[in-house]
Amino acid sequence: MRVCAVIPCFQEELRSSSLEVLTKSAAVASSSSAHVEAWLVGPTAEKHSSKAAQYGAATLRLMELEVDSEAKGVNVSLGRRIVDTVDEFMTHSAAELDANDPSEDSTLLLFDNTELTKDILGACGARLDAPVIPDVVDLSWDGHHCIAQRPTYASKVMSEVHAEGSVILCSIRAGLFEPIEKPVEATLHRYKAPESDLLGQVLKELVAPEGDTVDLTEAPIIIGVGRGINDETGKDLVAKLASLIRGEIAISRAHFESGMYSHTLLVGQSGKVVAPRLYLALGISGSIQHVAGMSESHTIIAINKDPEAPIFDLADLGIVGDLYQILPALIHALESTKA
Ligand SMILES: Cc1cc2nc3c(=O)[nH]c(=O)nc-3n(C[C@H](O)[C@H](O)[C@H](O)COP(=O)(O)OP(=O)(O)OC[C@H]3O[C@@H](n4cnc5c(N)ncnc54)[C@H](O)[C@@H]3O)c2cc1C
Repeated sequence: MRVCAVIPCFQEELRSSSLEVLTKSAAVASSSSAHVEAWLVGPTAEKHSSKAAQYGAATLRLMELEVDSEAKGVNVSLGRRIVDTVDEFMTHSAAELDANDPSEDSTLLLFDNTELTKDILGACGARLDAPVIPDVVDLSWDGHHCIAQRPTYASKVMSEVHAEGSVILCSIRAGLFEPIEKPVEATLHRYKAPESDLLGQVLKELVAPEGDTVDLTEAPIIIGVGRGINDETGKDLVAKLASLIRGEIAISRAHFESGMYSHTLLVGQSGKVVAPRLYLALGISGSIQHVAGMSESHTIIAINKDPEAPIFDLADLGIVGDLYQILPALIHALESTKA
């Protein structure tokens, strides 16, 4: 068996969700004496190869894609190229496996569960004719099956999924595993990006969505803002608190509709799925659609004036009261502590 961490490489630093995937790959592999590979695809693949070896990947496969800097303004998805590359790596690497060794006849492909992965995981599964288990919070290998835990019914239920096959694909929810270094000597294989054909896509430039300056899936502290904050005074209090505790702001659907914040900050069933160290829920009732996006947060603190609000069923700590009284007091206390 081998475990392959598929890593999209398009940023200066390797994302912490990618380090988590490498860490989980190493953990699954060590419990079944398997081999760990990192499949690095994108404009910064070469740059991140040594980091992948530092986190336990003994085989590195690299597809460094050129970005045409003269064609600014064209946003072409990296996703399609990743689907092609995964398919190509599968073909190349299958030839290297020992056909006489039955322990080498299974491949587990692990992805992080980002917006990019959500776009391509199904396509990769279809291309490889392999089962796909998205958004898992834990997984193991019993010698024949991949056994994964994943939240279902908007996180109401944790389901255990068993998949078998020569290739199995999983995406791992970000923020759940502490990245752990496990340096190894690595073998590097470089692959040449195929010439694009007229009907194919050419990677011209990677453009971040406008206004989406924050990657919530990577944030350790998130302040979730709900309908309980409903004016500029409240917004200022939230901004002050965020700067004091170095938190990133996220929103419930109430603010997706109010227009007070950018819609890219939505957390929940129709927004981002996050699992920060701390999720501070301010004036959020705790609808199942919101909870679906933040229930795996390590610590949840809720402030709400309604003691019956469902968010308190999930929270580790709760404060019942008016945010417009509690936030100034909290900010004052934090400022005094800092001073
Ligand atoms: C198909 C579908 C998909 C959806 N997807 C999402 C999604 O991805 N994300 C999402 O968030 N929602 C989603 N929703 C909407 C969801 O059902 C809820 O309507 C929404 O989450 C409510 O947001 P809220 O908790 O901020 O507002 P409310 O439910 O109105 O709650 C506001 C809370 O603030 C408290 N409050 C008010 N004033 C104060 C105060 N001064 N001090 C303290 N507390 C106060 C109230 O007691 C209340 O509990 C979806 C709905 C559907 C149908």
